[in-house]
Amino acid sequence: MQATRHSLFCHGSGCAPVTAVDQYDVVILGAGAAGMMCAAVAGQRGRRVLLIDRADEPGKKILISGGGRCNFTNLHAAPDRYISANPHFMKSAMSRYSQHDFIGMVDRYCIAWHEKTLGQLFCDGSARQIVAMLAEECAMGGVEMALGADVTGVEHRDGAYFVSFGARRAAAPALVIATGGPSIPKMGATGYAYDLARHFGLKVVEPRPALVPLTLGGDEALFRSLSGVSAEVITRCGKTSFREAALFTHKGLSGPAILQISSYWRHGQEIGVDFLPAEGEAWLAALKRAKPRATVRSALGGKLPDRLAEALAERLELAGELGNLTDKALNAAERRLADWRFKPNGTEGYAKAEVTVGGIDTAGLSSKSMEAKRVPGLYAIGEAVDVTGWLGGYNFQWAWASGWAAGNAI
Ligand SMILES: Cc1cc2nc3c(=O)[nH]c(=O)nc-3n(C[C@H](O)[C@H](O)[C@H](O)COP(=O)(O)OP(=O)(O)OC[C@H]3O[C@@H](n4cnc5c(N)ncnc54)[C@H](O)[C@@H]3O)c2cc1C
Repeated sequence: MQATRHSLFCHGSGCAPVTAVDQYDVVILGAGAAGMMCAAVAGQRGRRVLLIDRADEPGKKILISGGGRCNFTNLHAAPDRYISANPHFMKSAMSRYSQHDFIGMVDRYCIAWHEKTLGQLFCDGSARQIVAMLAEECAMGGVEMALGADVTGVEHRDGAYFVSFGARRAAAPALVIATGGPSIPKMGATGYAYDLARHFGLKVVEPRPALVPLTLGGDEALFRSLSGVSAEVITRCGKTSFREAALFTHKGLSGPAILQISSYWRHGQEIGVDFLPAEGEAWLAALKRAKPRATVRSALGGKLPDRLAEALAERLELAGELGNLTDKALNAAERRLADWRFKPNGTEGYAKAEVTVGGIDTAGLSSKSMEAKRVPGLYAIGEAVDVTGWLGGYNFQWAWASGWAAGNAI
């Protein structure tokens, strides 16, 4: 018998014995990607499942994902494409429920899909098809959904979790935290998962916005005048690099290459940008020999969008014809173009972040079942946990895999 007694967020009559307590085998908080997968799997294994969400429909982030087409997984999903204080934690769940398992489900529902780029799989039609598929899987498992229901209290006593929501109360020996991270608060995203986890004694790795545009200030604010210009670049932060498109914005830098590197960036750090990843060594000196009357501006103009070429040439301060410039100066310019340093002064924050890095510390969870090691019956899955994927379908794959793992363990 469980001796501990916890309660959380009891507002007014929220935790008062106003109504009968409905009994379930598991209550899942959050009907997003991870919560729906977990509910479907547990339900189909014969568990009585209650799935609660404050939103009025399930899977709202799925609906807006991938520009409405949901980048639902990635062909190249592998542990090295995830960030976590424990880089091994996700291996068990991801190997037991892989991208191919999810593709198999999508195919069973005859949802047409395509690979856009870099292994990223999108629906041909609409993200709604993914939500409908998961809702159907939940229905097959007899899952009861309580939508538009704010959770007002969670208590743990006598081996059971008591959850108050709306005017109802439910009890179950298992409780799953699947309320995601705080990215995009205007969609109802909250840090509730962290509060609940801390309440039950779990640690939380400091969360921060990820897959998020970076902002530029000081002298670098001048680059903001390039707003709308994009180019294929390599971005670097520490030992991590990405070759994709970057986009200048009126606040700083965005585009896939920047969003990717933002997950690794910390305040005070510089990022490096290679504006000409396709060029070989000493290409400017070689151009000088082939076209001595060309200029740095015209050389860049042939390889980059015009406004970007102009801005970079101005900052390189190498006026005149290449033939009149030394190889040393040209090689130094080339090195700078291959590793242009930006020191972002921040990010656009949770309002624009696709995900959150950090979250419930995996040290307190079983990698096999997602159950808290010291709090029997408490599970945490999806973005709430300190596992964050790259851009490109990796985050949904983690949501499916962790939801599947918990759903099979409950
Ligand atoms: C604009 C955007 C586009 C994205 N596109 C992609 C993509 O194409 N591919 C990809 O892999 N990832 C994408 N992501 C990331 C992906 O959406 C998340 O990683 C994923 O949804 C996490 O799943 P989850 O179930 O853990 O959390 P969520 O899907 O966020 O679900 C959490 C649920 O909990 C509910 N909730 C929160 N607080 C409470 C509370 N207190 N009480 C009750 N319910 C609560 C929320 O309403 C929500 O339904 C995108 C994210 C954004 C913001």
